[in-house]
Amino acid sequence: MNDSTCVPESANASTDFSGFGLHDALLKAIDQAGYKVPTPVQRATLPAVLQGSDLMVCSATGSGKTAAFVLPTLQRLSNTPSRNPGRSGPRVLVLAPTRELVLQVAKACETYGKYFRWLRLATVVGGVPYAAQLKAIRGSLDVLVATPGRLLDHLNSGRLNLSNVEVLVLDEADRMLDMGFIEDIQSIASATPRSRQTLLFSATLAGRVATLASDLLRDPQRLELESHRDTHENISQRLHWADSRAHKERLLDRLLVDPTIDQAIIFTSTQHDAERVASQLAQGGHDVAPLHGGMPQGVRNRTLNALRQRRVRLLVATDVA
Ligand code: AMP
Repeated sequence: MNDSTCVPESANASTDFSGFGLHDALLKAIDQAGYKVPTPVQRATLPAVLQGSDLMVCSATGSGKTAAFVLPTLQRLSNTPSRNPGRSGPRVLVLAPTRELVLQVAKACETYGKYFRWLRLATVVGGVPYAAQLKAIRGSLDVLVATPGRLLDHLNSGRLNLSNVEVLVLDEADRMLDMGFIEDIQSIASATPRSRQTLLFSATLAGRVATLASDLLRDPQRLELESHRDTHENISQRLHWADSRAHKERLLDRLLVDPTIDQAIIFTSTQHDAERVASQLAQGGHDVAPLHGGMPQGVRNRTLNALRQRRVRLLVATDVA
């Protein structure tokens, strides 16, 4: 493994996007997105991806990590965009833990690739009828963004060819491992060529993520982004030990009856918990709504509007928030 590089968030903050040798079409799209300077993860990652290195990158959600892999992979595709009629399957495969994240990454590809008229993009997520999905992944694709479970279904049914994958991206690898996708990821990776470039993004590079990286990455560069988000000066953090779920719920209720709390967000790890906690707080007389990825987009938008207009005081949310 190459040396680990620890990149401070403030490094070279004045450099703009023009120094990476990106295609004019990408620079135009970046400009239209309103980005003036690359974020630290983008500054650190772009040159390494463009060189063709395998990478393991420790960076948080919200750091701009999506553009950090989408921009250089689109650049790579644009170097040889010609379509070989005999080719099938994607050239770039992005695996992400949730439907939400898949759609977010696909949106980023559309935004940054909007001037590449040849770009063919598809998504594969669970909970969608198979027929339409199969149509979307038929033939040759430039980028396929997918959750591992449903992708593996298509692979096992022989309807998806991954032998032309040039770049494999594992986005939020730690969450995919937490969700039990390890074997799916390994099966998917083994259906792609060994010569591929592999980029792994994760909130941590330790433990099981390190083991996965040593299986799938070749001589990777390791980039760790320093983050001050952990200790934001406007946020004070307190830890309350709870003996049981009932105790935790009483503690929560106790915290939330404080009249000086204007509005609050309570995070839960699952959609089911978001519903359960919201319903319990509602029974306790709190003005509360749940928010998670299992709710229709229209309902989510209405909930967020209600929060903004202060018609809802408490939001119980998964990280879709
Ligand atoms: P991500 O961490 O990839 O989910 O990105 C978080 C947010 O940062 C997204 O809304 C991006 O549109 C935005 N973003 C990404 N790169 C930049 C940049 N260089 N300047 C400003 N915003 C950015």
